[in-house]
Amino acid sequence: MPDFDPIASSTVRQKPNLEPGFVHEEQVAAARHRLEQYVAEHGRRPNILVVLMDDVGWGDFGCYGGGVAVGAPTPNIDRLARDGLLLTSCYSEPSCTPSRASLLTGRLPMRHGLQRPPMYGEPGGLEGEVTLAELLSASGYVTQAVGKWHLGENQGSQPQHCGFDDFYGFLSVSDMYTEWRDPYFFPEVVYSEARTDWVKNLPFNKCFVHATRGGELENVEEVTIPVLSLLDDRWAEYSIAFMERMREEARPWFLYHCTRGAHFDNYPHERFLGRSPARHPYKDTLIELDDIVGRLVAALRDTGQLEHTLVFISSDNGPEMETWPDAAYTPFRCAKGSTWEGGVRVPGIFSWPGMIDPGRSSDGLFSFTDVLPTALELAGAAERKPEDRYIDGVDQTSFLLAPQAWSNRKYHYYWLGQMFSALRVGEFKFMLGSISDDDRDVHGGGGFTGVVQKYPYGRVYNLYLDPKEQHSYAIRKLAYLDSFLAGVRDHVRTFAPPYQPKLVTGLNI
Ligand code: CA
Repeated sequence: MPDFDPIASSTVRQKPNLEPGFVHEEQVAAARHRLEQYVAEHGRRPNILVVLMDDVGWGDFGCYGGGVAVGAPTPNIDRLARDGLLLTSCYSEPSCTPSRASLLTGRLPMRHGLQRPPMYGEPGGLEGEVTLAELLSASGYVTQAVGKWHLGENQGSQPQHCGFDDFYGFLSVSDMYTEWRDPYFFPEVVYSEARTDWVKNLPFNKCFVHATRGGELENVEEVTIPVLSLLDDRWAEYSIAFMERMREEARPWFLYHCTRGAHFDNYPHERFLGRSPARHPYKDTLIELDDIVGRLVAALRDTGQLEHTLVFISSDNGPEMETWPDAAYTPFRCAKGSTWEGGVRVPGIFSWPGMIDPGRSSDGLFSFTDVLPTALELAGAAERKPEDRYIDGVDQTSFLLAPQAWSNRKYHYYWLGQMFSALRVGEFKFMLGSISDDDRDVHGGGGFTGVVQKYPYGRVYNLYLDPKEQHSYAIRKLAYLDSFLAGVRDHVRTFAPPYQPKLVTGLNI
């Protein structure tokens, strides 16, 4: 591929409601050729498996420099990365729900409106959005969601009403089911009958559930602490059974497998308890998750579907440092909740044997919003992208499928709730505001506790020279200022009518 510079190059906007992207003609042609050959040879479109982990850090996996070095080897994930494409600049949103909604809608939290997680039965969710599952379903895919949902508990936001044929998992987030049952974390509830009753009456479902398209939820089992420790294993079994059923299915499928781990509080399955070199519940959970990835990939291989499946492994945000040491590892600044790199830069591994060249790694920008347009392109359904709303995702098909290809994304935009925080282009991050991570004020290094900061002149970090964002040297880089500001202005303009922002769950009361 020819040399290319993301700062010096321009993007193309294909439609008014689509985020502009680079058009690398050679790699687009190479990827198109590869995909057409695949479709011609096999007479089908690929399956798509997303394995989304919870609160797992950029540095946790061995292939990112963690693994044995941080007391939790991850051989299965490392192997998958070696056999595929490892991204070093894959971006989620700052917390669970915004990230998950962005992945499924191709839209930023300012547009889908889920700017923070709904908790303890709080109303509001994904309802009203068009999801990847709906669009793939309309394109002939079988759609299955397993595990954590956390995109709203109200009926219209439940997975079986948001495009999935079947759902087996829980509607919210791990800690909500167990923290008030654990005398170590909530003694004031556990030892008070009145408070225990009060929590039990909060309007959230205490069970993990099953549902089929358009139907009512069925409670499978109440999520007590012992049940919670079995969930990732049971969910893996469910996904494996799904893949076994799909062996005989002519239609391609989309499996959205979201693990319980490694969100606090971690109670690993007894097979993994004390089995990590670190002998810590977070690390034990991580080796369980790695084992699950191994089992899912083995099931694909055993059923002859590995070469027909694009696999994407990631995590929904950076480490939750306010619960340290039940926390992930990131080499970057700050943590979950923030728009510092530690909050939003997550692992991103793509694998599709025969279609994605093995042994690749790239620092090209990839946003969770890119999953939707990319998956639609692979499904041969690019024309199904909604036209009545703005789509922030960029089609990254050529980035994935062409040899040594460049990312098609020019800018990554960082939002902190309703505040525009920063823009990244190339190795530079131009920051106009953030949340503080001063350790005299926040617990454990961030990311939800700090105060909002605004930088009237902007800060500029060089993420290659300064990945920890400690040295703003905007004054030395004024030559870039106009182009950074133009990038921000163009982005902010996309929120003008008819694409006004939406607020479902926000940061302010
Ligand atoms: Ca999370």
